[in-house]
Formats: sequence, C-alpha cells, structure tokens
Amino acid sequence: MKGTIFLYPSPGLSHLVSMVELGKLIILHHSHSFSVTVLLMSGDSFNIPAVDSYIDHVSQTDPSIVFHRFPTLPKLESSSPTIFQTIRRNNPNLLHTLQTISNSSSIAALVIDFFCNSAFPIAADLNIPLYNYVPSGASGLSVFLYLPTIHNQTDKSLRELGNTNLDIPGLPSIRAAQMPQVLLDRNNEFYDDMLDLSNHLTKSRGIISNTFEALEPRVIEAVREQMPAFFCIGPLVLQPIDQSSESDCLKWLDMQPSRSIVFLSFGSRGVFPAKQIAEIAAGLERSGQRFLWVVRSPPPDSDTRSSLSATDDFDLNAVMPEGFLDRTRDRGLVVKSWAPQVEVLSRESVGGFVTHSGWNSVLEAVCAGVPLLAWPLYAEQEVNKVVLVEEMKLAMPMEVAEEDGIVVAAEVEKRVRALMDSEEGTEMRERCREMREKALAAWAEGGSSKTAFTNLAESWQRR
Ligand code: UDP
Repeated sequence: MKGTIFLYPSPGLSHLVSMVELGKLIILHHSHSFSVTVLLMSGDSFNIPAVDSYIDHVSQTDPSIVFHRFPTLPKLESSSPTIFQTIRRNNPNLLHTLQTISNSSSIAALVIDFFCNSAFPIAADLNIPLYNYVPSGASGLSVFLYLPTIHNQTDKSLRELGNTNLDIPGLPSIRAAQMPQVLLDRNNEFYDDMLDLSNHLTKSRGIISNTFEALEPRVIEAVREQMPAFFCIGPLVLQPIDQSSESDCLKWLDMQPSRSIVFLSFGSRGVFPAKQIAEIAAGLERSGQRFLWVVRSPPPDSDTRSSLSATDDFDLNAVMPEGFLDRTRDRGLVVKSWAPQVEVLSRESVGGFVTHSGWNSVLEAVCAGVPLLAWPLYAEQEVNKVVLVEEMKLAMPMEVAEEDGIVVAAEVEKRVRALMDSEEGTEMRERCREMREKALAAWAEGGSSKTAFTNLAESWQRR
C-alpha cells in the first residue's frame, strides 16, 4: 500500500504554492511509493480568491494531488486572530483528519509549514513522523534557529539592541534591528509563538528547505551542524506557462529590446504610501530606463508596507503623479496590483528586478538569471537583502532613509541606472546567469537537490 504524505501549509498564497510544488515533486519522482494530500485549514487567510483559483488550477492540471479542506471554524467575536491562533484553532480538525485516515491507510509523514508547530503534539500522539518545511532559504532558517540563543543571552528586546551586530551561524553580520520585525519586541504573544516555533525546529525528523547548496553554501553547512537531517531540495518555483495571448503586459514585454526592462514588483502583499509612489515614479523617469511596474493602491496608514487586501479596484490615474503615465508612455508600463511574475522574469526583454526580496521572488529571479535590486519590506526580507548583497552578490541594495522609511527619487534613479546600465550591473547579470546554471544543475542527475530529495524519500520509507 502507498504511504500518504500529508502536506500542511500555513495560511497565505506563497506558502501554499511552495508546498504544492513540493507535492508535485513527490508525485513526479515517487508516485509508486507515495500519494500526496494537502490539508487546507480554515480561516480568513485562506478565503481569498487567488487561493481558490490556484487550488482549482492545480486540481485540474495535477489531479493526483488531493486537497482536503477542514470544516469552517466558527466566527470569532474578537478582532482578527494571529496566524498562530488560526493554526491552533485548526488543531482539532487536524487530529480528527489524521486519526480517521490512519484507520484506513498508512501515513508516511506529516510535512508542516514551519508556522504550524502546534501540530507537534498531535503527530507525536499518533506516532506520525513529522518534518518541517521552511519556505524561506537557509539564511532565514538560521535566523530562527538562533533566536533561542539570543533570547537566553539577554533580557533586552532586539529593538533595544538596535545596531548591535549579531553573530548568526553562517551569515554575514546582521544588526539586531535588521531581524524580522515580528521578533523585535519580546514582550508580546506573537514573539512567544515565534520563539516556540524556533525551539521546535530541530525537534522534527528533518527540515526541508526551498534552497540549494550552491546558492547558500556557508549557511547551509552551519544549519547542518545544528540539524544533520537538513534537506535542501530547491529551487521549487512555479514553471512559466505561456500566457502571452492573455496578458497585455507580456505582449508589451515581447516588443521591447533585449534586457532593457527593469521590473518592479513587491510580493503578494507589498504596498507603499502615495509619497513613496511619487518618489519611485520620479526616480524611474529620471533614470531614463524602460520599466514594468506593479502598483497597488496606497494603504490608509502611511507606515504600512504589507497588506492582504490589495485589489485592482482603484483609479491608477489618481494614484500616479500627474502626467507621469503620459510622459513615460513610450518606455514604461504600469499594471495594477498583480503581474504574472514568473512569466515576466522569464522574458528576454527583462534585465533587472526591483524586489521586496521575499524568498519566492528571489528564487524566481535566480531561475531566470535576472539580477536584483533589494528593497525589503517585511518578514525576513532584511536578512535576505544582506545575504543577497554581501554573500551571493546577486543584488544591489536600495537604501531607505532612516528618518521616514522613504526611498528618495535620487536613490531610485541611481540604483536603477547602476543595475541596468553599468559595468557592475553587467557583471552581476553574468553572475546571475551562472547561478541559474547551478540551479539547473542542482536538479540534474547526481545534483545536490535531486540527491537530497532521494534521501528524503528514503527516510519516509524507513518510518
Ligand atoms: N507574485 C506574482 N505577481 C505579483 C506579485 C507576486 O506572481 O504581482 C508572486 C511571485 O511570483 C511569488 C509570490 O507571489 O511567487 C510572492 O512570494 P514571495 O515569497 O516573493 O513574497 P511574499 O508574497 O510571501 O511576501
């Protein structure tokens, strides 16, 4: 009988996509041994149209991946729960589902997104081998593995430590203030949950990470010293599908000269206040470069850089500085809210990518061989920026003014020029092409990720 691998993603599209890619790999290489079921918890973050349409799409194109939705949770009286609270509220559903299925079939493993650490006692009670899946790279993982150490060394919050350099295994010097924002203040419940998550990481049977040896060699080695069962099986990214006939921006890109376009896009949640949009517009205009820019409606709070409620239901002319769209019509395109990023990056005309440095975006650029301009906004992106710039040398940094968190037009102009039209940019583009080759090699016969994946499947078989 085939063993079932249960994949348990946390809420949110990018974590789900990354885990489903893992599911596709399991089916592709080991369908004779395993079946794959993705457990979808209930909660508001999964009730977004993009998630539903993505699941519908996968159900049609990869019908061997089974989705199992948990029953809807009762509405909460209080305001919106944290991701950890949502996950804990789903624990009875998880227990019930695993118990029911284990009566009729054999469960080979439960692979949880690292936010789902509250599943640990359930897996232990049912004697199911539990693996952690980290959708970020080894650098992000090393930060979380280090959190308990720093927590025990000091009573201060990371915010108070400010400019103190942290000595995180395998990473360049990171200032305390560059750590993920949710870790900066130790006096709240969310921090406690992050600490608990970090403490649990090495208690699993193995940690699976969406990275590959050649991309982060030093930090991968450092993680492996703490957790020998560390499987680097990346890069797992969506494959570009040809949507040229449906997408105006892809049609437009195909008419532009080779490597001439700088693409600006800030993840599934990145947003900017009107003042920042104006500075980007002015910088792009003065840079003289061609561009494709994904713009979202500014949030009500000007300090917010991450919003789940971005829609394309807004008037672009009201958001953009007066006359900008007309003046740049012959060399720039602005799209509202969302662009088919993987397809965009794969276009011959795209030569640079201004990104918030979310891990999926980083990997997608690596797979397309496109150099980056790193402008972190939330989560572990500051850490990704340091590693991209100082270790991998695949990105240039965007400098944000400390007083108001704004990147001024002159900085945008200078960096975009450097990325697109300088010797340094050309060298970086060459390094990115080489890294693309290494990414392909990782999944070729005998490559590091292919071997790690085989070892992982063997460990599932040994249960
Ligand atoms: N994405 C996209 N179009 C957009 C913005 C984002 O297709 O306009 C996709 C992008 O290709 C990536 C994901 O959304 O796969 C964002 O994941 P990432 O880890 O970079 O950032 P997050 O959204 O988790 O902050």
